[in-house]
Amino acid sequence: MSEEREKRKQKIKKKRTHMSVQESRERIRNFNEVALGYTAEEVLEEASRCLKCKKPRCVKGCPVNVQIPEFIEKILENDINGAKDIILCTNSLPAITGRVCPQENQCQEFCIHPNAISIGNLERYVADNGQIGERQTKSDLGTKVAVIGSGPSGLTCAAELATLGHNVTVYEALHEYGGVLTYGIPEFRMPKSIVNEEIESVMALGVKFEKDVLVGRTITVNELLEKHQCNAVYVASGAGTPNFLGIPGENFNGVFSANEFLTRVNLLKGYQFPDFDTPVTIGEKVAVIGAGNVAMDCARTSLRLGAREVDIIYRRSEGEIPARLEEIIHAKDEGVVIGELTSPLEIIGDNKGNVVGLKCMKMDLGEKDASGRRRPIPIPETEFIFPVDTVIIAIGQRPNQLIAQTTEGLEITKWGTFVHNEETGATTRERIFCGGDVATGAATVILAMEAGRKAAKAIHEMILEKDLQG
Ligand code: FAD
Ligand code: SF4
Repeated sequence: MSEEREKRKQKIKKKRTHMSVQESRERIRNFNEVALGYTAEEVLEEASRCLKCKKPRCVKGCPVNVQIPEFIEKILENDINGAKDIILCTNSLPAITGRVCPQENQCQEFCIHPNAISIGNLERYVADNGQIGERQTKSDLGTKVAVIGSGPSGLTCAAELATLGHNVTVYEALHEYGGVLTYGIPEFRMPKSIVNEEIESVMALGVKFEKDVLVGRTITVNELLEKHQCNAVYVASGAGTPNFLGIPGENFNGVFSANEFLTRVNLLKGYQFPDFDTPVTIGEKVAVIGAGNVAMDCARTSLRLGAREVDIIYRRSEGEIPARLEEIIHAKDEGVVIGELTSPLEIIGDNKGNVVGLKCMKMDLGEKDASGRRRPIPIPETEFIFPVDTVIIAIGQRPNQLIAQTTEGLEITKWGTFVHNEETGATTRERIFCGGDVATGAATVILAMEAGRKAAKAIHEMILEKDLQG
């Protein structure tokens, strides 16, 4: 057997390098990051498993096509700065995606190694430990672009446009930048210091930021185009309006939407009470309805705020839970109970209007539905009352309609998302582009970033063609 084949065989035999995490009994008492990241030795150990495929399938699985084997090779050369430069060519927020991307359904799903390389963990190490080299921005074109929303989609689009020579201002409604990364995903999963560093790296490209500007109220899109003479506007205002169940009892005290709950804990720093005078009262027994990343974040946050028992109420089976695998494992390790095949019917309150229970019924799984998952079917006469004092509803979000309502010519779909061209982000109105959750409905960080990249390219080309020719 050739030496090369023997090396490959050895690599295939190697197991994944484990990433240390805070011990579960310890971590449910704090909001510090759970996953601790690789050490310098561990990152080399994990990188050494990569088979350096000639046609790397992992790259195809990444929505922004990070050149994965190339950056892994740099790690093996101990050139972490070089690895970071490679990632930054297509991904401007690697410390974030390394932490929250659902890698098991993307790059790692496509990896041909029988025990997929932990690409996300490698990316996180590189992002956290590499220095950013000098980034070349093109000379000032004298053009102006307004970006609405400072979440991952707005940040990516702003960074790309600034690199191409446009003057970009990001307008953010809240008093902090980062979108869901700041107000939604908890500190123990997405430390805000990391989000701030990524935002600073976008600022370093010359992008200006204005907070407390609610576009549609403080200023309109038309004013940005006409009064401020922007050549284009990119709308990346996310999907921040919570969905409710439409069952009786949703107005009782002790019922939260996931958005309200997480915003109060993260953005308003409820978890740092009494240092911040914004307490969030959580009961002893919490039911979280839904089983996506948002639901897992609510469940794990509730435990950290002192709840004694937290149950996820999910109408399908555990195998169909949409949350990232790592979050499900961490939630279960921390003591979150997954109540599968259970559907809520009514929230029960006492005579003071406080929640005392959740009426549910058991479900079975039928034929596959349009989403490809088996449809949940109620089992007759299985109703029961689950005693709880807090209910958190985490069944999805949709876009806020303010911008659509205050900007004529923007068509929206029946889900409240903007009608748009998927390749360019172009909306039904000239010079207005969109991307991220406002265009697709609630999705993922990396898809929001991909949309930001595509729209930046289209905006640049539109401006070159319409405004800068000749
Ligand atoms: P957002 O991040 O929502 O940012 C939109 C920004 O626009 C916000 O800051 C908002 O304040 C601002 N804005 C809205 N309206 C206006 C206006 N009129 N004027 C000015 N500013 C405005 N995805 C993953 O990939 N992995 C995960 O683990 C994951 N976990 C999640 C956990 C939670 C709790 C939530 C809520 C989502 C999670 N997601 C996750 C989804 C992911 O965060 C979103 O898909 C992503 O943030 C969408 O990016 P965006 O830039 O389109 O919008
Ligand atoms: Fe390495 Fe897997 Fe990509 Fe092949 S598919 S280059 S083994 S990460």
